[in-house]
Amino acid sequence: MKDILIASHNEGKVKEISSLLTPMGYKVYSAKKFNINEPREDGNSFIANSLIKSKNAALKSGIPSIADDSGLCILSLGNQPGIYSARWAGRKKDFDLAMNKIELKMLKNNLIHKYQKKAFFCCALSIYFPNGKYRAFEGKIYGCIQFPPKGKNGFGYDPIFVPNGYRKTFGEMKFRYKESISHRAIAFRKMSKFLKKMSN
Ligand code: IMP
Repeated sequence: MKDILIASHNEGKVKEISSLLTPMGYKVYSAKKFNINEPREDGNSFIANSLIKSKNAALKSGIPSIADDSGLCILSLGNQPGIYSARWAGRKKDFDLAMNKIELKMLKNNLIHKYQKKAFFCCALSIYFPNGKYRAFEGKIYGCIQFPPKGKNGFGYDPIFVPNGYRKTFGEMKFRYKESISHRAIAFRKMSKFLKKMSN
């Protein structure tokens, strides 16, 4: 069985990524188990931040490590909150506050028309090997943001994001369904193709 480490302290992410890797014959470890610290995410893109996390974990643990970095980008706000998506929610991780900040900022800038509400979620998934090799995969899902927030099924910015082709917000969708169409799912599918090729 091949070892792999998930460089995240977020139990939800560890669970989600494990469920993809276990059927592929991987023995999955979490960053907590290896006492891996959370490095400073000071990259200027999702991929850069994802690689900071996977590299830190791979070099410290000596086993291939996977990390993800994600966020919501609103086109008319110059792709904000983007890589700062978690930080907009403050120390208390208050996403009602973060969504409120977005709404106020858009109103203040008179961004009220549908075409000004275009947004996408982005997920950068990376794998770093102890020998210094690495690969990164990006998944994006496009849609619009809407206020007021709707739905309690998701997390983070889910209640204000309606993907193209749907009427419901991510927060109103069944969580399993949302996860099957999300930016994370798209990046996962790209990475699992790579892992399958690698193990053949
Ligand atoms: P990260 O843990 O540094 O990648 O933080 C990403 C932030 O973006 C999280 O705090 C989430 O709130 C937000 N985010 C990322 N993906 C999603 C999603 O699928 N739904 C809602 N919010 C998300």
